Amino acid sequence: STFNQLDLHERLLKALEELSFEQPTQVQSATIPAAIAGKDLYVIAQTGSGKTAAFVLPLLQRLLQDESKPLAPRGFILVPTRELARQVVKDIASLAQFTFLKAELVTGGEDFKVQAARLRKNPDIVVATPGRALEQLAAGNLELGSVQTLVLDEADRMLDMGFSEDVTTLAEACPQPRQTALYSATKGNRGLQRMIDSVLHEPDILEL
Ligand code: AMP
Repeated sequence: STFNQLDLHERLLKALEELSFEQPTQVQSATIPAAIAGKDLYVIAQTGSGKTAAFVLPLLQRLLQDESKPLAPRGFILVPTRELARQVVKDIASLAQFTFLKAELVTGGEDFKVQAARLRKNPDIVVATPGRALEQLAAGNLELGSVQTLVLDEADRMLDMGFSEDVTTLAEACPQPRQTALYSATKGNRGLQRMIDSVLHEPDILEL
């Protein structure tokens, strides 16, 4: 299939052309239509499969279609590590380069107040690691009340790192109804199944 068949906004197609992404990867073709339609997703996919663009493109598409202008993020992406968070923000910047949509990073290892000041600039998307996100939430600097799409990337790794409770708390701070997409490299053990049951609503399940 082609990106044109996925009903993406021309500004996103332009970015894909700029990046020389000629055709969607398997995980992208399988997930993007359902994600644009607002479905919840549980996706088993490996790093290197193109999974980042698979959740970023439909999120950008939905934000471009959305007329609401809340003063708080509409997209919230949780990842296990600072390095991955930085990479996701970079990928968003590339894919959103012809739009006005902006992402902000919320991870440990950065000055707390500087981060709070950047959150006040009203990013459309926040990409975070669970520990720092929870601290900024508790301090009143991270507002999750306008989140429409929540992405849990590498959920199995977040569980392995002991973030289960933090992730659940953060998910509960996002309003319902919302869209949630959970990505994991491995099939669930009991902990992952519990998280799936608590954060996803009738998800499409895709094993790639
Ligand atoms: P990921 O699995 O998200 O870590 O992506 C792996 C690599 O594939 C990254 O370097 C992406 O920039 C690249 N990539 C993602 N989607 C495509 C695509 N449709 N065509 C070419 N490269 C891609």
